[in-house]
Amino acid sequence: MHIFWFGFLTVFSQVGGIFYLVYIYFYNKIIREKVYRQFQPPMAGRGKRFLNFLLRNTIFVIGFLLFFGILSHLLIPPLAGLFGREPLPVFSSDRKYLASAKTYTWFFHRHYVTPELKKEILDISKRFNKEHPGVKVLYLDGNLPFIDNFPLVPHLSHDDGEKLDLSFIYIKNNKNKNNVPGWMGYGVCEEPRQGEVNYPVKCSNNPIYNLLYKISPQRKTTFQVDVEKTKTLLREIIRSTKVRKIFIEPHLENRWGFSGEGKVRFQGCHSVRHDDHIHLQL
Ligand SMILES: [Zn+2]
Repeated sequence: MHIFWFGFLTVFSQVGGIFYLVYIYFYNKIIREKVYRQFQPPMAGRGKRFLNFLLRNTIFVIGFLLFFGILSHLLIPPLAGLFGREPLPVFSSDRKYLASAKTYTWFFHRHYVTPELKKEILDISKRFNKEHPGVKVLYLDGNLPFIDNFPLVPHLSHDDGEKLDLSFIYIKNNKNKNNVPGWMGYGVCEEPRQGEVNYPVKCSNNPIYNLLYKISPQRKTTFQVDVEKTKTLLREIIRSTKVRKIFIEPHLENRWGFSGEGKVRFQGCHSVRHDDHIHLQL
């Protein structure tokens, strides 16, 4: 069990596995030995044993989330700075232009970029916000805090601080709520229509291409892409001289009038599909 969680947290957040190991040490030494044993109810009967098990595991999980949440967010940002990466806005005043679409992104340190990309995406977000006051640019996965060539699963190219995913702009019940569909922020796709080029079919043999689509429930009735505002965002990204590549699916590139734009490209079948988000890179 510990090996599984160590592996999972390392893959998911790079630093999570190390924090998990340190936490187990302190949990065993302090919480289990010194605190928990004092209050442990006498074990008798199946019901009590089950309650005991539930209580122990709940304390273990909440304890880890607090330990990781507080300590890692104090330590990782300054350390990542030494390695040339900075976190995107979470609580700073810049979050009125650029904010995370999902809490897990920043909680698990998946929102790190190079200072150059941070400046660029903030400039893009401010220009966008001038055209659409009150509407934020929402970021999804960026990069992990340390080491080049350590990929951010499942976005394998996000390994050098120079890649970032942004959400499309959505409305819900005809209002912008600075929110996105789906529990991950990925996977609710604007699928090809009849007569449009259909890469989801062409790439159906590659399991990673449709992975996020398959594990995300489709909730299209409540959220709709705000096409005009998403196009504004794409135009502002294209305007940036530092951004070299933008990935969206070819059917959206054509539908939204960006065919012929040199920077806007198809990522290929080997990667996750891009009709649920925008990928940009320096
Ligand atoms: Zn990406």
